[in-house]
Parts: sequence; C-alpha cells; structure tokens
Amino acid sequence: MNWIDDFQNEFPGTHLREEPMSRHTNFRIGGPADLMYIPNSVNALDAALRYLNQNGIPVLILGGGYNLLVSDQGFRGATVKLPEDITDPIDFQGGTVTASAGLPLKRLVREAAARGLTGIENLAGIPGTVGGAIYMNAGAYGSCVADVFQSAGAVCPESGVRTMNAADLQFNYRSSILQEMRCTVITGAEFRLRPGANPAELEDRCREIIRVRNGKHPVGLPSAGSFFRNTRGLPPAGRLIEEAGLKGLAVGGAQVSPMHANFIVNTGGATCRDVLDLMARVQEKVQRIHGVLLEPEVRIIP
Ligand SMILES: Cc1cc2nc3c(=O)[nH]c(=O)nc-3n(C[C@H](O)[C@H](O)[C@H](O)COP(=O)(O)OP(=O)(O)OC[C@H]3O[C@@H](n4cnc5c(N)ncnc54)[C@H](O)[C@@H]3O)c2cc1C
Repeated sequence: MNWIDDFQNEFPGTHLREEPMSRHTNFRIGGPADLMYIPNSVNALDAALRYLNQNGIPVLILGGGYNLLVSDQGFRGATVKLPEDITDPIDFQGGTVTASAGLPLKRLVREAAARGLTGIENLAGIPGTVGGAIYMNAGAYGSCVADVFQSAGAVCPESGVRTMNAADLQFNYRSSILQEMRCTVITGAEFRLRPGANPAELEDRCREIIRVRNGKHPVGLPSAGSFFRNTRGLPPAGRLIEEAGLKGLAVGGAQVSPMHANFIVNTGGATCRDVLDLMARVQEKVQRIHGVLLEPEVRIIP
C-alpha cells in the first residue's frame, strides 16, 4: 500500500504494518490493521491526523483496548495508539492533577489515593487508559469521569491542537461527544480532586472496591467488560439477561459469562463473528421476554 511508505517516511514514531488487533484488545479478537502508528509527539500526531484526513484514510484510535471488539478482517486504515508520555505522564498541583491520555487509569486512581485526593476512588479497578475513560465517561459505584473532569488537550484532524472543557465534551451515561466526532484524539487531561482525605483510608477503599469487583467480574477471561448498556428505568442489563435464562449460552468460543450475565467472554479462540452472533441471540431473547432492545456499550469496529 503506497500511503504506508509515504506515511512512515513523513511522521516520526513507531510504525507496525499488518499488526493483529487481537494483540491490542482485551477480548484477544481482531484481524490485522494495515498500519498501527504510535506517534512520538503531539506535533507528529497533529500532522499525521491531517495527512490521514486529507487522504481519506480511515483512523481508529486505540486506548488499552478494554472496550473494543474489532472485526476478524481487521482494520483497513491506520490505528493510532498513544504512548504514556505523549505529554507529561502525571503531575499533581494541590487538588489538580494532569495526566497523559495514554496513562493507565488505575495509576491515576492509585496515585491520587496515595496523596489523600478524593473524587476518583470509586473508579479503582476500571482497566484502560485516561483517554479511553474520557471517551467512554467510564464509571462505577455512582461515580464517573465527568464528576472530576476539568479540561483536555485534543488533536482534531480539521482544527489541529485544541483544548476541550467539560461543556465541550457533553458527558452522559458512558458517553461523550467524542463518540460522535470523527477521530478527535485526547492527548491529556486535567482533573479537579478534593484534597485532605486520609491516604490510608482511601487506599483501603480502593482495595475493597477491587476485591468486590474481582469477586463479581470474570476477570480471568478475555472480555470487554459490560457488554450492554443499562436501560434507564429498567433493572441492570445483566439482570435482564440472567432472567432470560441466557447465562452460559455460547456461540463458538464466545460465551455469556456464567459469573456475570452482562459479560461476554472469550473462552478460547472466539471470533468477532461468534461474539456478534451471540450478541444478536441475547438481544433477540431479551427483547422477546422483557420488551427492550439492549444496546451494546462495547465499541464495535466492523
Ligand atoms: C474486566 C473489565 C471491567 C470493566 N469495568 C468497567 C467499569 O466498571 N466501568 C466502566 O465504565 N467501564 C468498564 N470496563 C470497560 C473499559 O475498561 C472502559 O470503557 C475503559 O474506559 C476503556 O478504556 P481503554 O483505554 O481501554 O479504551 P479502548 O477500549 O481502547 O477504546 C474505547 C473507545 O475510546 C476511544 N479512545 C481511546 N483512547 C482515546 C483517546 N486518547 N482519544 C480519543 N478516543 C480514544 C477508542 O477509539 C474507542 O472508541 C471494563 C472492562 C473490562 C475488560
């Protein structure tokens, strides 16, 4: 493919051709992307996004891959993954913390707790990066990213480097405006936390949350976390699926987890097709029994 040679010569960073997406998704599913690009600076990312946009080359942004299901055919275009140090990885000034988008969210939560900063401890144990957590407005136990978010640095293919504030991001339940924008990449963000808490107590709270999560979630098997969104006014999706008698249902290597019905797990060798077929069977039966069409929370890259 001609554009890959040009791209590789022009934009500094790491370039991986035909890179299997199964290596970069927690589901361990997904065929090769034409190119995976890891930029070495925000400027390189900015220039690269403009080039890809101008040449009509599709772009997929990867965080930790904990919420992604990628096609068995892979991705025709460029996947972009940020290194942890695309900006300063993490910096604390009083209650304000800035973190790079490629930083694991778990590290942000851990370091905030160690400094007695409260506001994100309920997010302990959520896998993935800061960038992915902003895109998804990740949350748990009544808290979400939007509660503490102040602003983010972003790169848009059309308008270049910019700052986005909370109003720009239009956070909602597991969503942000980024989900409707064409490949705007978050490079780093600022969060406002409350100082003065007891670090040991916060760390205990984080440990307890992780203990409870590990007791409920099938963390030993590849998955993308909660597969379906909860529907306002109805019991959680997992309960609806369980009541429909679907726990343990399998298609190929994909299975509705017997441990938590809103997790679809890869028990070995699952394909994207297996997961999509299983998803359709769950949706069909839940709709027949409960009268609601469950919407996937997982980002599906067809
Ligand atoms: C065992 C398990 C438990 C989970 N528990 C929870 C939970 O309790 N709560 C919860 O909310 N989620 C949960 N998840 C889902 C997942 O951890 C979150 O959605 C997480 O925020 C995804 O982050 P990521 O970096 O892996 O993003 P990815 O999965 O890589 O990407 C998700 C989306 O974000 C976009 N994206 C990623 N980085 C950027 C960036 N820098 N700029 C712009 N867009 C970007 C991607 O294009 C993609 O569309 C769980 C997942 C697993 C596997």
